[in-house]
Amino acid sequence: MAVNIKTIKRPCFCCGRQDGFRVPLGVWSIAGIGDLDLNIRICDSCGAVLQDPVLNEEAMGLYYKSFSNYTNASRNGLPSEATLEADFRQVATIQKYLKPGWVFEVGSATANLLSKLKKLGWAVDGCDPSQNAADVAAELWDIQIKTGLFEDLKIKPQSFDLVVVSHVLEHVYDPLLNLLKANEILSEDGCLLVEVPCLTDPEKWPAGYFTFEHINIFSKNSLINCLLKSGFEPLDITITSERMPYPVITILSKKTNRKSFTLSETDSPDGVKRMIQTYRESEVSEWNRIDQLLSRELIGFERVIIWGAGIHTSQLFENVKTLNRVTIRSIIDSDPQKRGLEMCGVKISDPVSADLGDASSVVVISSRASENEIYNTIYERKHMKAKIIRLYQR
Ligand SMILES: [Zn+2]
Repeated sequence: MAVNIKTIKRPCFCCGRQDGFRVPLGVWSIAGIGDLDLNIRICDSCGAVLQDPVLNEEAMGLYYKSFSNYTNASRNGLPSEATLEADFRQVATIQKYLKPGWVFEVGSATANLLSKLKKLGWAVDGCDPSQNAADVAAELWDIQIKTGLFEDLKIKPQSFDLVVVSHVLEHVYDPLLNLLKANEILSEDGCLLVEVPCLTDPEKWPAGYFTFEHINIFSKNSLINCLLKSGFEPLDITITSERMPYPVITILSKKTNRKSFTLSETDSPDGVKRMIQTYRESEVSEWNRIDQLLSRELIGFERVIIWGAGIHTSQLFENVKTLNRVTIRSIIDSDPQKRGLEMCGVKISDPVSADLGDASSVVVISSRASENEIYNTIYERKHMKAKIIRLYQR
């Protein structure tokens, strides 16, 4: 089935307006999608930050279905350190306010959080678009989750005491729709736990912070206003800036019947614009550092191999000019679904086919989060003679 790939304009997820200031992120070559001209917009009216234009929903759906990796395949289904810490923090917040009852998690991935709540006496249910994730959840924890999009599922109204929406709202086209549905399935005195990346402390954002998959970038104010608009009243607000890849905000809210409410304050569009422009300047200098590193390290090598076909590689090709001046032989990725696809005209191959026994080969590891993991995998290969370059850890 051919999927129509195009970009569409979208309204502000918080106030619905169409206008604002755009910050261009460049043209990214994305495996399975092609070249995308990415922009973030700062809403003129409420200061909310979003991708606009954005890849159409159908193509994004295909991307998640085919390539997105939330099943931790490289760790045998087990979660990362950052995920474990998020689970720990969320369970602590839940225990502080609630007694075990019925919980539904939207976008439950491999159900790590649900497995912890189950041990604490909760009756658990959830959904995820990925069948792979559902299979891993069943195998690891004996938890059966529904597959599909939350907004499409038929769930009995008022049947849960707690709904968890963790690291989901930044990905969805209409966060308010998801929050209203969460409200509908919660009992009268039910609670909602939401966690998303938070637009705060820009000095803690890594290079490449604005990524293709995050189409809404919430601040404390824009998230609170979305919650108020969908019938929730925040009880507990925590911003965590340490030990995560970037700052996150966690809010536990209770369902409220109030028909009238006063919105919280909004962000100043000018203030947000300054914050993002300052960040972009420091991001550019980080890409320049990588560019200079590669311009020194790649000299004299005949075979340049890029290891990793994810969004980091899309960002690398767009921001690191040295890569345009060398011949890249292949891009290596362990995901079988990416085999044979191209990024910037270079074919993606599987790790087994990578010829690393030749001292004229050089491998650039293109991943921030998995750099060490990939390094160890390559280093342990038999007859390894290629030079390996790590961009972040030296
Ligand atoms: Zn707005």
